[in-house]
Amino acid sequence: MSRLCLILFGAPGSGKGTQAKLLRQSLGIAHISTGDMLRERVASGDPLGLEVESLMKAGSLVPDETVNRLVEERIEQPDSVSGFILDGFPRTVHQAKLLGELLAAKGIRPLVVHLKVDYNVIIARLSGRRLCPTCGALYSVTPNVRAASEVCDYDGTKLVVREDDREDVVRARLLAYEKQTAPVLACLKEAGYPAWDLEGAGESPHAIARKIETLIRDYRAGGEEARA
Ligand code: ADP
Repeated sequence: MSRLCLILFGAPGSGKGTQAKLLRQSLGIAHISTGDMLRERVASGDPLGLEVESLMKAGSLVPDETVNRLVEERIEQPDSVSGFILDGFPRTVHQAKLLGELLAAKGIRPLVVHLKVDYNVIIARLSGRRLCPTCGALYSVTPNVRAASEVCDYDGTKLVVREDDREDVVRARLLAYEKQTAPVLACLKEAGYPAWDLEGAGESPHAIARKIETLIRDYRAGGEEARA
């Protein structure tokens, strides 16, 4: 069976990161989040981090060359050998082109899952999201169900609002998604990659993850080679 590459596609707040974390465990493959990689570089204060910090704070995209390089290096790491989930990449047509070349050279055909979520739901989700600044865990805080004490379950750190989850920045991120990222889905479909649109709200994250697992299992059982 070929190396699995799953592209999780969707707007900010559509649940890509949550799904990637669940699927990483059940599928036993690496989770590659460009947003997490970039945030780590910002936190470490290295030159690349300093270069991208203001763009990220404003909700704008980081230059293609920067993310392309990060992904290219990351998929060569040992934990990506049996496969990997791309969360937040490709986000522009140029990134999709590079990915296509990288994967073709390795004989990998990616599978694409598009998580569809209404923008009003997204805005509500992101404004109720809290981050543990120590370990990066994310929590959801709704007006009715407040996180017990708003501290991290793992390390007790006080939770904060992620800087780019402020409403004005969320709107900038959604705009960047509409203009630069949404057209990428058509490119991926045109490239002939198998792609599924899935409702990303109204069910528990576990239920959505099970649907994705079933799609992948059925596709692979149907003989991906025969369709290649
Ligand atoms: P979300 O998908 O919820 O916006 P991410 O954690 O994926 O959150 O991304 C946060 C920020 O990191 C983005 O707003 C952007 O500035 C930057 N970023 C992440 N992935 C990419 C990418 N593939 N290309 C350009 N910028 C990116």
